[in-house]
Amino acid sequence: MKIDSLEEIIKNEPAYRIKQIRKLIYKDLIEDWNVALVLPLSLRERLSKECPLEIKHKLFKDNNTLKALIEFEDGSKIETVLMEHDQERSTVCVSSQVGCPLKCSFCATGASFKRNLTSFEIIEQVLLFSRELKKKNKKVTNIVFMGMGEPFLNYDNVIESIKMINSPEYFNIGSRKISISTAGIIEGIERFSNEDLQVNLSISLHAPNDLIRSNLMPINKKYSVEKLLKAVDQYIKKTNRKVMFEYLMIKGENDSLESAEELSLLMKRPLVMVNLIVYNPTGKFKPSDNNTIKKFKEYLEKKGIFTTQRYEFGRKINAACGQLAAYDTIN
Ligand code: SF4
Repeated sequence: MKIDSLEEIIKNEPAYRIKQIRKLIYKDLIEDWNVALVLPLSLRERLSKECPLEIKHKLFKDNNTLKALIEFEDGSKIETVLMEHDQERSTVCVSSQVGCPLKCSFCATGASFKRNLTSFEIIEQVLLFSRELKKKNKKVTNIVFMGMGEPFLNYDNVIESIKMINSPEYFNIGSRKISISTAGIIEGIERFSNEDLQVNLSISLHAPNDLIRSNLMPINKKYSVEKLLKAVDQYIKKTNRKVMFEYLMIKGENDSLESAEELSLLMKRPLVMVNLIVYNPTGKFKPSDNNTIKKFKEYLEKKGIFTTQRYEFGRKINAACGQLAAYDTIN
């Protein structure tokens, strides 16, 4: 799909035409210009040739989770995931980069990095699943930037895509239904605090101290836990918005009661909460067992830390957190 060239192609068309075309793509969810009978034949033919609507992809299904492997014009491939919670709520976990340069040791995505995605390549992921959900009379209601890549290393394109996802002319998904998750790029958190957006912020913390965190996430050597929390404090002070700390439960690495104690001390700040995530094996580590997670959670709660545990989607199709890698082929 060459949706980014659309504006260029239609720039000499009357203004109402652009609106009409956006409605066809993002509301009517057409997949072929030939059905756009409101457009003159000559324009339909030009768009079919220069801006085809086909998204090259392959789908993998596991109960209420659908993973899509998408291939872009240059052959780059990414994965994106749709989680259908119920009839009313469907979340797309979007990717922001082809691979990821941060190389977290528990994550399959970090094995390679190719390039940033454009804003249109990001919204193409939402478009693909909107088309899938239309078949069931459902819509995408929530977006999380937790797929492949570090969103704040592709800051401008991510923010531009959020504005489009948010816009009534595109997907009209409210800012509060959009979350962005960072491994802790401090400049990104600072910039984000200045945006006039009500988008939620999550931090992938995954460890209660520098020793464990640097082992799991090399980015911690640049942005230590202390620096990261300072940036989060500034963000909260400026926006008065809640921040979610994501914490993967990895057996024998970060799941001891000592870790829970250290974490509880870090979380003694206003407007923060912890989300425990069961680790999905990607080779090197093992997930914590249920009893360990239960005790870890109980400890945090006893200390007054608001703690949730994420329900896992799509483990069987390698669509869960940290498993996206785009190794499959489409043909
Ligand atoms: S966990 Fe996130 S930041 Fe870390 S390598 Fe994977 S995609 Fe990148």
